[in-house]
Amino acid sequence: MIQSENSIPAFDIKQQYAFIEAEISAAVLEVLNSGRYIGGPVVEGFEQQFAAYTGVSQCVACNSGTDALYLALRVFDIGAGDEVITTPFTFIATSEVISAVGAKPIFVDIDANTFNLNLRQVAAAITPRTKSIIPVHLFGQPVDMTALMDIANAHNLIVIEDCAQSTGAIWGEKKVGSIGHIGCFSFYPTKNLGGCGDGGAITTNEPEIAAKLRILKEHGQKNRYIHEEIGINSRLDAIQAAILQIKLRYLDIWNQQRQAIASRYHQFLRQVPGITPPQELAGGKGVWNQYTIRVLNQKRDWLRNQLQEQGVNTMVYYPRPLHLQPVYENLGYQPGQLPVAEQASQEVVSLPMFPELSEEQQDQVIYRLKDCLG
Ligand SMILES: *Cc1c(COP(=O)(O)O)cnc(C)c1O
Repeated sequence: MIQSENSIPAFDIKQQYAFIEAEISAAVLEVLNSGRYIGGPVVEGFEQQFAAYTGVSQCVACNSGTDALYLALRVFDIGAGDEVITTPFTFIATSEVISAVGAKPIFVDIDANTFNLNLRQVAAAITPRTKSIIPVHLFGQPVDMTALMDIANAHNLIVIEDCAQSTGAIWGEKKVGSIGHIGCFSFYPTKNLGGCGDGGAITTNEPEIAAKLRILKEHGQKNRYIHEEIGINSRLDAIQAAILQIKLRYLDIWNQQRQAIASRYHQFLRQVPGITPPQELAGGKGVWNQYTIRVLNQKRDWLRNQLQEQGVNTMVYYPRPLHLQPVYENLGYQPGQLPVAEQASQEVVSLPMFPELSEEQQDQVIYRLKDCLG
């Protein structure tokens, strides 16, 4: 990777830190001096603020987005013998947790325009064993939750929203994570709301579900040292909660900056031959964790190399869909079975996208892309 003065990174979390360094330092020092490193008022404060932000009554903080998804499946007793429908075009965590609880992931193909679940295929994949659907709001773009909830409600299925890449995204009038039965968030540093380490949260409107989650995430104990079920240890550190409280105040501004960059990319990339810019569904407002284009005619890897040589760094999310991962060989999927996801994995490239990306840098990305594609 070229790292000259002028090279443009795919993402950059150091600029954001520099912008709020003083606030973060003060908040972290306060936690260090307080002696409350696990649980306590800072974590509880963050949970309340994040619930209010998302528009739900309950938020349970945990150690990661992966844990959030795992705990969501556990709290609804999804396990051996159950099927969970999800997308093959996502980070492995989404399906890994389905396998971890002993259930079976059922992968259905995606929509070519949004990269999100194809809802007709979701409906067609429902069997008597189906317990749940996990829609992923990929790259920050919300799934059509109105249509998805109609399908789920008609079959009594639990909807677990994977909001790891979409904190702040809106479908209709509501934030993602407040529409399904439960929402799962990641605060991994590169997400829209990212901490300085691992972190996650679960949102719901059911106090009973939140209470059960608190037991599951603390070793299955309701009363200390009395363990009623097999749980895990999944906590958000007080230091991370303090940092996230600060960053949450800026999240809408940062998401607006991402939206402005996406609009600019759209405007200038629409006419470029050989690529397809991402499309947004009417009814949703995405938050652009990634800005992912398709490169046609098998030129994706060539284009990436060209851009990199000119100092524009890009990423590929995801080079291999989950149904074709070695770990899922036992499920028996064949190449060609989910063709839209497979084609996407060959064609996608994510351009530099972070709130602090300057107009000059955006222009460089656009100029270099146009130059490469003639
Ligand atoms: C990042 C991510 C996760 C997992 O979050 P972690 O906090 O890294 O465990 C789950 N699903 C998706 C779609 C993600 O992008």
